[in-house]
Amino acid sequence: MTESILIVEDEISLQETLAYNLKKEGYAVETVGDGRSALEAARRLKPDLIVLDIMLPEMDGFEVARILRREMSTAILMLTARDDEIDRVVGLEVGADDYLTKPFSMRELMARVKSQLRRTRILREEMGKSGFAEMKHETLKFDNLVVNLTRREVILNESPLQLKPKEYELLLFFAEHRRQMLSREFILERVWGWDYIGDSRTVDVHVRWLRQKIETDAANPIRIVTVRGGGYRFEG
Ligand code: CA
Repeated sequence: MTESILIVEDEISLQETLAYNLKKEGYAVETVGDGRSALEAARRLKPDLIVLDIMLPEMDGFEVARILRREMSTAILMLTARDDEIDRVVGLEVGADDYLTKPFSMRELMARVKSQLRRTRILREEMGKSGFAEMKHETLKFDNLVVNLTRREVILNESPLQLKPKEYELLLFFAEHRRQMLSREFILERVWGWDYIGDSRTVDVHVRWLRQKIETDAANPIRIVTVRGGGYRFEG
């Protein structure tokens, strides 16, 4: 399968150089030159990788990454204009997977692109193994935590837990999206539904309850971790 890459870069000569070199390597490439078009193109194409410049018209790369992270787990390689520690830290905080400082060589870019795409493939395979594939077997197992889908039962250290229906649904939703960053809004929409009247604090409250039941130490959670400025991620 041809892997697809979305290039978001407003500097036309660089955009063209990137596109040319990536196409030459056999990737399907699409280019846009501003933040809003980046969102639109990413949603439409669901690319395997996004090469994202930070300084962009309309909406900067940080904002684009922040929004996309709530919707998809596509790898993001950020391009920064200077070797700025702040840019790098913010970039990683908003969900970029890697970054490259301008100017960079095409060889350097290609190495990063390949490494990100390889990571994406491995993650997908893992998801297939641990998540959806096991769903068919009617139980999900995360070490000492077992979810019996047929009986809607959750077992920790061989003792059944008393979960409220929404806690159970939330746990199941996390399990289906293991190791993905999930925003509160996304969780609210999927677990509570479009028409739910409430806000994202509902999610926080349920996560707290769930942690008290499934974590060894709810104050230092290792299964459901908080992603700063983002949401939650279920580690398993
Ligand atoms: Ca730029």
